[in-house]
Amino acid sequence: TNLEIFDLKSMVDDVFKVMQNIAKEKKISLNNNVRDEVLMKANINRMKQLIMNLVDNGIKYNVQNGSVSVDGYREDGKVVISVKDTGIGIPSAHIPRIFERFYRVDKGRSRGMGGTGLGLSIVKHIVNLYNGEIKVNSVVGEGTEFIVKIPCQP
Ligand code: ATP
Ligand code: MG
Repeated sequence: TNLEIFDLKSMVDDVFKVMQNIAKEKKISLNNNVRDEVLMKANINRMKQLIMNLVDNGIKYNVQNGSVSVDGYREDGKVVISVKDTGIGIPSAHIPRIFERFYRVDKGRSRGMGGTGLGLSIVKHIVNLYNGEIKVNSVVGEGTEFIVKIPCQP
Protein backbone atom coordinates (compact mmCIF):
# COMPACT_ATOMS: atom_id res chain seq x y z
CA THR A 1 0.00 0.00 0.00
CA ASN A 2 1.77 3.07 -1.31
CA LEU A 3 5.37 2.23 -0.53
CA GLU A 4 7.75 5.10 -1.12
CA ILE A 5 11.45 5.62 -0.54
CA PHE A 6 12.22 8.47 1.83
CA ASP A 7 15.03 9.82 3.96
CA LEU A 8 14.44 9.26 7.68
CA LYS A 9 16.26 12.39 8.85
CA SER A 10 14.12 14.61 6.60
CA MET A 11 10.99 12.91 7.87
CA VAL A 12 11.97 13.61 11.48
CA ASP A 13 12.55 17.26 10.53
CA ASP A 14 9.03 17.38 9.08
CA VAL A 15 7.57 15.89 12.26
CA PHE A 16 9.50 18.39 14.41
CA LYS A 17 8.10 21.29 12.35
CA VAL A 18 4.59 20.15 13.20
CA MET A 19 5.42 19.75 16.90
CA GLN A 20 7.66 22.78 17.46
CA ASN A 21 4.94 25.04 18.86
CA ILE A 22 3.84 22.71 21.64
CA ALA A 23 7.50 21.94 22.36
CA LYS A 24 8.29 25.65 22.69
CA GLU A 25 5.41 26.20 25.10
CA LYS A 26 7.00 23.70 27.49
CA LYS A 27 10.54 24.86 26.66
CA ILE A 28 11.42 21.43 25.36
CA SER A 29 14.20 21.09 22.82
CA LEU A 30 13.85 18.66 19.94
CA ASN A 31 17.04 17.02 18.68
CA ASN A 32 17.27 15.25 15.34
CA ASN A 33 20.26 12.90 15.62
CA VAL A 34 19.20 10.61 12.76
CA ARG A 35 22.25 9.62 10.69
CA ASP A 36 22.58 10.87 7.13
CA GLU A 37 21.25 8.77 4.30
CA VAL A 38 19.08 6.36 6.24
CA LEU A 39 16.70 5.53 3.40
CA MET A 40 13.53 3.58 4.07
CA LYS A 41 10.92 2.03 1.85
CA ALA A 42 7.58 2.19 3.63
CA ASN A 43 4.31 4.08 3.69
CA ILE A 44 5.24 7.71 4.42
CA ASN A 45 2.04 8.57 6.27
CA ARG A 46 2.29 5.57 8.53
CA MET A 47 5.92 6.16 9.40
CA LYS A 48 5.22 9.83 10.09
CA GLN A 49 2.37 8.84 12.37
CA LEU A 50 4.59 6.40 14.24
CA ILE A 51 7.31 9.00 14.85
CA MET A 52 4.78 11.73 15.61
CA ASN A 53 2.99 9.68 18.28
CA LEU A 54 6.27 8.87 20.04
CA VAL A 55 7.54 12.47 19.88
CA ASP A 56 4.14 13.72 21.07
CA ASN A 57 4.44 11.53 24.17
CA GLY A 58 8.05 12.61 24.66
CA ILE A 59 6.89 16.24 24.82
CA LYS A 60 3.67 15.65 26.75
CA TYR A 61 5.22 13.54 29.52
CA ASN A 62 8.30 15.74 29.84
CA VAL A 63 9.35 18.47 32.24
CA GLN A 64 10.14 22.13 31.62
CA ASN A 65 13.50 22.57 29.85
CA GLY A 66 13.59 18.90 28.96
CA SER A 67 14.40 17.40 25.60
CA VAL A 68 13.28 14.81 23.09
CA SER A 69 15.98 13.23 20.94
CA VAL A 70 15.41 11.04 17.93
CA ASP A 71 18.16 8.81 16.61
CA GLY A 72 18.03 6.57 13.55
CA TYR A 73 20.48 4.22 11.91
CA ARG A 74 20.82 0.91 10.08
CA GLU A 75 21.74 -2.32 11.86
CA ASP A 76 21.61 -5.90 10.50
CA GLY A 77 19.11 -5.22 7.71
CA LYS A 78 16.90 -3.18 10.01
CA VAL A 79 16.26 0.49 10.55
CA VAL A 80 16.48 1.38 14.25
CA ILE A 81 14.58 4.45 15.45
CA SER A 82 15.04 5.65 19.04
CA VAL A 83 12.88 8.34 20.62
CA LYS A 84 14.30 9.38 23.98
CA ASP A 85 12.95 11.93 26.43
CA THR A 86 14.00 13.43 29.76
CA GLY A 87 10.50 13.22 31.20
CA ILE A 88 8.59 11.71 34.08
CA GLY A 89 9.19 8.07 33.12
CA ILE A 90 6.82 5.09 33.29
CA PRO A 91 6.61 2.90 36.42
CA SER A 92 7.73 -0.59 35.41
CA ALA A 93 4.46 -2.19 36.58
CA HIS A 94 2.61 -0.27 33.84
CA ILE A 95 4.98 -1.00 30.96
CA PRO A 96 3.31 -4.29 29.90
CA ARG A 97 0.02 -2.46 29.35
CA ILE A 98 0.92 0.86 27.73
CA PHE A 99 0.38 -0.47 24.19
CA GLU A 100 -3.24 -1.40 24.94
CA ARG A 101 -5.92 0.81 23.48
CA PHE A 102 -7.14 3.49 25.91
CA TYR A 103 -4.60 2.53 28.58
CA ARG A 104 -3.16 5.52 30.45
CA VAL A 105 -0.73 5.13 33.32
CA ASP A 106 -2.33 7.39 35.83
CA LYS A 107 -5.59 9.15 35.23
CA GLY A 108 -4.49 11.86 37.63
CA ARG A 109 -1.28 12.86 35.94
CA SER A 110 -2.59 12.54 32.39
CA ARG A 111 -5.85 14.34 33.08
CA GLY A 112 -5.90 17.69 31.36
CA MET A 113 -3.06 16.66 29.10
CA GLY A 114 -5.45 15.67 26.37
CA GLY A 115 -5.32 12.40 24.54
CA THR A 116 -7.28 9.20 24.68
CA GLY A 117 -4.66 6.51 25.21
CA LEU A 118 -4.57 5.45 21.57
CA GLY A 119 -1.17 6.80 20.48
CA LEU A 120 0.96 3.82 21.46
CA SER A 121 -1.60 1.25 20.29
CA ILE A 122 -1.35 2.85 16.84
CA VAL A 123 2.46 2.78 17.05
CA LYS A 124 2.36 -0.92 17.92
CA HIS A 125 -0.05 -1.62 15.09
CA ILE A 126 2.24 0.08 12.55
CA VAL A 127 5.32 -1.72 13.90
CA ASN A 128 3.46 -5.04 13.50
CA LEU A 129 2.47 -4.20 9.92
CA TYR A 130 6.17 -4.00 9.07
CA ASN A 131 7.09 -7.10 11.12
CA GLY A 132 9.11 -4.90 13.41
CA GLU A 133 9.63 -4.80 17.15
CA ILE A 134 9.36 -2.13 19.82
CA LYS A 135 11.06 -1.91 23.20
CA VAL A 136 10.84 0.54 26.08
CA ASN A 137 13.44 1.58 28.62
CA SER A 138 12.18 3.91 31.31
CA VAL A 139 13.29 5.26 34.65
CA VAL A 140 10.78 7.17 36.76
CA GLY A 141 11.90 10.76 37.18
CA GLU A 142 14.63 10.41 34.54
CA GLY A 143 13.04 9.62 31.22
CA THR A 144 11.92 7.10 28.66
CA GLU A 145 13.31 5.67 25.46
CA PHE A 146 11.26 3.83 22.85
CA ILE A 147 13.31 1.77 20.38
CA VAL A 148 11.67 0.62 17.16
CA LYS A 149 13.35 -1.84 14.78
CA ILE A 150 11.91 -2.36 11.33
CA PRO A 151 13.29 -4.86 8.81
CA CYS A 152 14.11 -2.80 5.74
CA GLN A 153 16.52 -3.53 2.90
CA PRO A 154 19.05 -0.79 2.09
P1 ATP B 1 -2.96 9.88 22.94
O1 ATP B 1 -1.65 9.34 22.45
O2 ATP B 1 -4.13 9.14 22.37
O3 ATP B 1 -3.03 11.36 22.78
P2 ATP B 1 -1.90 9.09 25.48
O4 ATP B 1 -0.63 9.83 25.20
O5 ATP B 1 -2.42 9.12 26.87
O6 ATP B 1 -3.07 9.61 24.51
P3 ATP B 1 -0.50 6.71 24.57
O7 ATP B 1 0.35 7.53 23.68
O8 ATP B 1 -1.04 5.42 24.04
O9 ATP B 1 -1.76 7.54 25.09
O10 ATP B 1 0.31 6.40 25.90
C1 ATP B 1 -0.29 5.59 26.93
C2 ATP B 1 0.19 6.04 28.30
O11 ATP B 1 1.56 5.68 28.46
C3 ATP B 1 0.14 7.54 28.50
O12 ATP B 1 -1.12 7.96 28.98
C4 ATP B 1 1.23 7.77 29.53
O13 ATP B 1 0.71 7.53 30.82
C5 ATP B 1 2.24 6.68 29.20
N1 ATP B 1 3.36 7.18 28.37
C6 ATP B 1 3.49 7.05 27.03
N2 ATP B 1 4.63 7.58 26.58
C7 ATP B 1 5.26 8.08 27.67
C8 ATP B 1 6.51 8.76 27.87
N3 ATP B 1 7.33 9.04 26.85
N4 ATP B 1 6.83 9.12 29.14
C9 ATP B 1 6.01 8.82 30.18
N5 ATP B 1 4.83 8.19 30.06
C10 ATP B 1 4.44 7.82 28.82
MG1 MG C 1 0.24 9.62 23.25
